[in-house]
Amino acid sequence: MARPHVLVIPYPAQGHVLPLMSFSRYLAKQGIQITFINTVFNHNCIINSLSESSHDYVEDEINLVSIPDGLEDSPEERSIPGKLSESVLRFMPTKVEELIERMIAESTIISCVVADQSLGWAIEVAAKFEIRRAAFCPAAAASMVLGFSIQKLVDDGLIESDGTPKVNKTIQLSPGMPKMETDKFVWVCLKNKESQKNIFELMLQNNKSIESTDWLLCNSVYELETAAFGLYPQILPIGPIGWSQSLGDDKFTSIGSFLPQDRDCLDWLDRHIPGSVIYVAFGSFGFMSKVQLEELAIGLELTKRPVLWVTGSGDQPPIKPGSGLVKVVRWAPQREVLSHRAIGCFVSHCGWNSTLEGAGNGIPFVCIPNFADQFINKAYICDVWKIGLEFEQDELGVVSKLEVKKKIDEVMRNDGEYTKRAMMVKEVMMKSVAKDGVSYGNLDKFVNWIKEKVN
Ligand code: UDP
Repeated sequence: MARPHVLVIPYPAQGHVLPLMSFSRYLAKQGIQITFINTVFNHNCIINSLSESSHDYVEDEINLVSIPDGLEDSPEERSIPGKLSESVLRFMPTKVEELIERMIAESTIISCVVADQSLGWAIEVAAKFEIRRAAFCPAAAASMVLGFSIQKLVDDGLIESDGTPKVNKTIQLSPGMPKMETDKFVWVCLKNKESQKNIFELMLQNNKSIESTDWLLCNSVYELETAAFGLYPQILPIGPIGWSQSLGDDKFTSIGSFLPQDRDCLDWLDRHIPGSVIYVAFGSFGFMSKVQLEELAIGLELTKRPVLWVTGSGDQPPIKPGSGLVKVVRWAPQREVLSHRAIGCFVSHCGWNSTLEGAGNGIPFVCIPNFADQFINKAYICDVWKIGLEFEQDELGVVSKLEVKKKIDEVMRNDGEYTKRAMMVKEVMMKSVAKDGVSYGNLDKFVNWIKEKVN
C-alpha cells in the first residue's frame, strides 16, 4: 500500500517553521511521508544551518521544497512583520497552487495539506483541489479565540470595524482566560496603522477560510488553557508538539533553525551548579533599544549570577570583555538549554514556543513582551499559571537595571515558589503528551485519520 503523504505549509517565520517541523517529524515517525514548503530565503537558511547528521535525516524523512516569497529584491523588508505577511499573501498562494498542480500531474499522492492557521488561503487552495486539510496553530488557543471574537469586540463597542480600539480597557473573553488590554491586541501592537489594518483584515479572512478545514490543531495543552478550549471545542490541543512523543535525538530539534546553533554553550552550562544560570533570549526578532540593552546588561551583572544570553538578530549586548559570568551566543539549542539542570530562570519575550519550552521544563520566567501574542502569553505566565513576573517599565518606557535585578532575584529566591509552580506546570504538560493524555489522544486520532484514506 502507498505511504500517506502530507504537504506542510508554515508561515515563513522562525516561530512558525520550528513547531511545524516538530509536527512533521512526529508524523514522519508514524510512517507518513512529508513535503515541507519553505520560502526560498528560509529554505537556504535552514539548509545552511543543518548539522551533518540532520542533513541525512532530512533527506530520508522530510522532503524540503521551496517557493519565492516575493521579497527576493528587498530582503531588508523580510524582517518587518507587516511587510512579510503582505508579500506572502501576494505571492505564495499562486506558487503553492502551481506546486500542487505539478504534483497531481505527476500522480503524487497528497493525503492531506497541513497549513499554518495564519495561512487561510492554503486551506482554500487545498479545498479547491479537494484535498483533505488541517490548520495548525503554533500560538496559544487564547490567541485564536481572540481572533474568533473580533465581531463580538466590534458589537461590544470595544474596537472599530478596522480593529482600532475605541477605549483602552482590560478585558477577559471568559473567566479563566488571560486578561487582555485592548491597546495590546495582536493587530494593534504593531504600532503602524497600515500593518494593523492588513493584519486585522488577514485575521478576518483567515477566520473564514479555516471554516472549511477538517481539523483545527493547536500547539497547546488542554489543562493549561481550559477556558479557551471550552469556548471553542473545535480547537484541538496537540502540544507541546515534538516533546515526549519521544522523537529520540535532541540534536534533530535543530532542523528548521534559520541560524546554526552554538552547541558550546551546553558545555559551558555543564560547568554551573543546578538552577544557577539566567537564560536570556528574545526569539527571532530583535527589538531592544541600545538604552534598554545597557540597563538589562547592568541589571544582570548586579544579580551576580551566571548568564547565558542569546542575541539572535538583535544587537550585541554591552557586556564587559572578560566577564566570566556571562556567555553570549548568536543562537542556542534553546530546547536543550532549557532542559539543562543549570538553568534557573528564563528572561523571555514570551513568544509561544519559548513559553512552552520554558514551562515544559519547569523554568520560572521574567517577562519582557514586545508585540503580537506575547502579551497574552505573558498574562498566562504571570497571572494564570503564576510561574513568573513581568519587568515594569519606568516613565520613559525603559526597564531599569534595579528593576531587572529585583525581579530576577524575586523569581530565583531560595524558597523556590516560582520554580515549584513551574514544575507543576511541567508535570501537567508531560501528562498531556503521554499515553492517555489529551494531546496524545488528539494526535493519535489525527494520524489514524490521515492513514485511513491514502489519496
Ligand atoms: N530558538 C532557538 N535558539 C535560540 C533562540 C530561540 O532555537 O537561541 C527557538 C526557540 O526554541 C523557539 C523559537 O526559536 O522554538 C522562537 O519562537 P518563539 O515563539 O519563542 O518566538 P518568535 O521568534 O516567534 O518571536
